[in-house]
Parts: sequence; C-alpha cells; structure tokens
Amino acid sequence: MEETKFIRGKDMTDLIAEPSVELMAITPDAERVIELACRTCYLSFHRFDPPASTRELIKKVIRKGHHSVLEHAGATFRIKGGSRTFTHELVRHRLMSPSQESQRYVEYGKTRDFDVVLPGSIENSDFKNRYLEMAARCEKFYTEMVKADIPKEDARYILPGGTTSEIVISANLREFRHIFAVRCHPRAHWEIRRICLKMLEVLKAEAPIVFDDFEIDWETESARIVES
Ligand SMILES: Cc1cc2nc3c(=O)[nH]c(=O)nc-3n(C[C@H](O)[C@H](O)[C@H](O)COP(=O)(O)OP(=O)(O)OC[C@H]3O[C@@H](n4cnc5c(N)ncnc54)[C@H](O)[C@@H]3O)c2cc1C
Repeated sequence: MEETKFIRGKDMTDLIAEPSVELMAITPDAERVIELACRTCYLSFHRFDPPASTRELIKKVIRKGHHSVLEHAGATFRIKGGSRTFTHELVRHRLMSPSQESQRYVEYGKTRDFDVVLPGSIENSDFKNRYLEMAARCEKFYTEMVKADIPKEDARYILPGGTTSEIVISANLREFRHIFAVRCHPRAHWEIRRICLKMLEVLKAEAPIVFDDFEIDWETESARIVES
C-alpha cells in the first residue's frame, strides 16, 4: 500500500510535537530592581521596606499606567515544539528580541528530527492520519531534494506551516505583560495562547507582583487582566 511507505514509527507519534518553555534567565531580584528604579523618580528610598513596599509600589504604577519602570527587568525563554505558524505570530512583537533556528542552515533528518504540531481539531477528526501522512511525505520529498543537492533554503519551501521551530526570546517585563495581554486573550490563536500561558505561569512565580493581575483560566486555556 502506498501510505505504508511514509509510516514512521507506531501511528507516526514520533512526528507529533509537544511545546515546552524553559526560563533561561531573568533579572535577579527583578521586583526589587523595579522598585528601586521607580523610587529614584521621587528619591523615596526611605520608603523602601520590602516586601510590603514592593507590592504597594508596583501595583500602584501598574494601576496608574506608569509601566516604563517595568522595563528595568527582563526575561529570556527557550521555546521548543512550537510551529513556524506560531513563531511567525510571535516575532511580530517588535520590542521582543528573537533568535530562531534557521531552515537555511538546519537540515531535517540530520541536524534535527522533523516534527509537526497536530492541532486538536485535526487530531480529533478523521483527517488525523492523512495529516500526518502528508507531513511525512513533505519530509521525505525534502530529504530527497537535499540529497540531490537542492539547497536547504529552497527545499524547505515544501515543508508545512506546522513544522516545529526552536526559538529563544528576550523581552522586558513591560513587553511580556503586553504580549500576554493580547496573546493569552481568549480570542488569540490557540497555539500562541497555549505557549504564552506557559510563560505567564513561569513569570507569575518569578515576579508575582508584576503579573499578579493576570488571571489564568485553565479550562479555556486563556488569561485576562483583572482589577486587583
Ligand atoms: C488576536 C490577534 C490577531 C492578529 N491578527 C493579525 C492579522 O490578521 N494580520 C496581521 O498582520 N497581524 C495580526 N496580528 C498582529 C498584530 O497586528 C501586531 O503585529 C502584533 O500584535 C504586534 O504588535 P503590537 O502592537 O501588539 O506590539 P509590539 O510590537 O509587541 O509592541 C509593544 C507596544 O510598543 C508600542 N510600539 C511598538 N512599535 C511601535 C511603533 N512603531 N510606533 C508606536 N508604538 C509602537 C505599542 O504601544 C505596542 O503595543 C494579530 C495580533 C493579535 C493579538
């Protein structure tokens, strides 16, 4: 049977990607740095009395929209298992710095394995097997072209938007708040929403006051800013 040629492992599960986020770095004592930077505006260091003063001041500046002080702290994440479709959306954020694996230099099947994101709507439909077979066919054709000396930068044109792409992003906490506000919103695309939610969860633990007003709803896999 034609299809069996493209089966890679049992049920082609080795083709299905799972997203992960890893916090690589964050400004040490991020909220202390923000408070001390902010207190410079008023030379009110005599009021520096953490943790109460930190909470009070950061919540106040967020409420009043004095968000530039949040730029004194930043974080870096490595994201794996997200699709090129997702990274295309993510890199639109201009105040965030990305470094992404290049399909011009990386060779699937050699430098790294080829895998794809399987959207839930397709996974739960009759199209699942055909979707994975099509992806496997694209990979096979890509490999055939590269072996025949077609440059990787040209052979990649046949790869699907679901192809995963590793990316490292850095941004200050003001920009992370903005990204989460628009990308964790229930109306945002499910994949960027899901991955941003993972980062939000990490930053909520690392800088709880800065992200305190983001309420995560795990049922709908979304988050919104609530008054606090
Ligand atoms: C739900 C959703 C759907 C979308 N759909 C589409 C679509 O169909 N087509 C499409 O092309 N894009 C779409 N986008 C992407 C969107 O248009 C933006 O490119 C993306 O959100 C990044 O821009 P940003 O304004 O959010 O902020 P960032 O680039 O993250 O910048 C952060 C903030 O800095 C400020 N800023 C940054 N650059 C400037 C500047 N040059 N001038 C003034 N202020 C600046 C703004 O206040 C901005 O909000 C969508 C985004 C979302 C969240």
